[in-house]
Amino acid sequence: MRRCNRCGNELVELVLSEEQALEIWALQKEDLNVFIVKKFKDEYGYSHRDAKIIMDHLNPIYGKCLSCDYDKLIGESVDCPECKAFNYNMNFEPKSSSDS
Ligand SMILES: [Zn+2]
Ligand SMILES: [Zn+2]
Repeated sequence: MRRCNRCGNELVELVLSEEQALEIWALQKEDLNVFIVKKFKDEYGYSHRDAKIIMDHLNPIYGKCLSCDYDKLIGESVDCPECKAFNYNMNFEPKSSSDS
């Protein structure tokens, strides 16, 4: 079990299919955080508590820390070297997308 060094919450491992990642990405783009929590809870089977904690640690911009200005995070599930916050840092953006 990972623990966030900033807020002290325990973090569940996040395993998403490509399709699920895409759904989260779409919601994140629209800033629909409430629906992201709902999706984790109702559709992906996480507890409400875990769903909220996951939501709190999904950094909206890949590579950028969710709680400070650090923007060079590398890899998934990393602690920010600046503020110690845990970031899932998942690259949800579809790889095959062309520019729009
Ligand atoms: Zn935290
Ligand atoms: Zn940070």
